Amino acid sequence: MIKFLDLEKINNRFREEIDSELKEILDSGWYLQGKKNQKFAENFAEFCGVKHCLGVANGLDALNLIIKAYGFSNGDEIIVPANTYIASILAISQNGCTPILVEPDIKTYNINPDLIEEKITERTKAIMVVHLYGQAVQMKKIWELAKKYNLKIIEDSAQAHGSVYDGIKTGALGDASGFSFYPGKNLGCMGDGGCVTTNDDELFEKIKAIANYGSDRKYHHIYKGVNSRLDEIQAAVLNVKLKYLDKDNARRREISKYYRENIKNRIIILPETYDESAHVWHVFAVRTPERDRFQKYLEENNIQTIIHYPTPPHKQGAYQEWNNLSYPISEEIHRTVISLPISPVMTDDEVERVTEVINEYR
Ligand SMILES: *Cc1c(COP(=O)(O)O)cnc(C)c1O
Repeated sequence: MIKFLDLEKINNRFREEIDSELKEILDSGWYLQGKKNQKFAENFAEFCGVKHCLGVANGLDALNLIIKAYGFSNGDEIIVPANTYIASILAISQNGCTPILVEPDIKTYNINPDLIEEKITERTKAIMVVHLYGQAVQMKKIWELAKKYNLKIIEDSAQAHGSVYDGIKTGALGDASGFSFYPGKNLGCMGDGGCVTTNDDELFEKIKAIANYGSDRKYHHIYKGVNSRLDEIQAAVLNVKLKYLDKDNARRREISKYYRENIKNRIIILPETYDESAHVWHVFAVRTPERDRFQKYLEENNIQTIIHYPTPPHKQGAYQEWNNLSYPISEEIHRTVISLPISPVMTDDEVERVTEVINEYR
């Protein structure tokens, strides 16, 4: 069986290093807000090329905290792609803001920058870009719009650790960025985890306080905060794995290149990238009108696939108020997309086998 993602194999590469980190934490008796967090925040800020990083409990919290710290609420509008994972949209509505959905570009799967301006109103406060499947959004036009209308840019970088646009890494492309370290992400911990990155000193101090019960110093609460922290165990695991992230992303690029050069089947549409460094291939999503039959065929050939995602947010029960709206491009993507196995631990044999089986599909 070729697994979609072999997490055991991924993490076992670092068993000795992780073991020794865990032992150190057990010996120290210090589990939260300690040295491991400090070190990871420094390392990840440096990796992204930003001033500040704060470890938080998960990716959804990271986005939530950014919106909260900006004080967006009460029907403030935030623009977001219609075809994202629901977390991006939940972070907006959980703050009492209105998500304004914008159709993606069917080639990049990312928000179509040409469709944003017509959605900007008096109430628009921010544009949330989502670097979907690991490909950094083409930011030029979005930067221009943010400047013209005085909007904040919030990045959802949960799928795009290490991808680059115009020489700048995700995490540094907007005013603030949220990352997830959910185990299956390109940089994943052994449980839940996330972080916020930003160059904004004031925003950073505010997020730090809000994430810690609204407290800027012990027993002194200036905001109605929340509890959202990255624990020392997760920070330690991330410190180990961050060292190998560039190498892992390079292997993902290699696999994607092989797939894109060698998969040849006229009913399979391959993903494209506008620049190799922009894409870290968190997901290798192909499209086909016969998605279900194709998935069943791969399964019969012992190849595991996943669908990211079967239902668009506006068709979910959680957003019944949108169920009658139509976002045809987003719907087309959700109806046809299917993700092939890709990971830093896949062998050449496995990659070739997946390719061969797909090329034999009729
Ligand atoms: C994984 C993911 C999130 C949420 O991260 P969690 O750590 O699971 O809360 C948000 N946005 C996108 C695009 C994601 O893929």
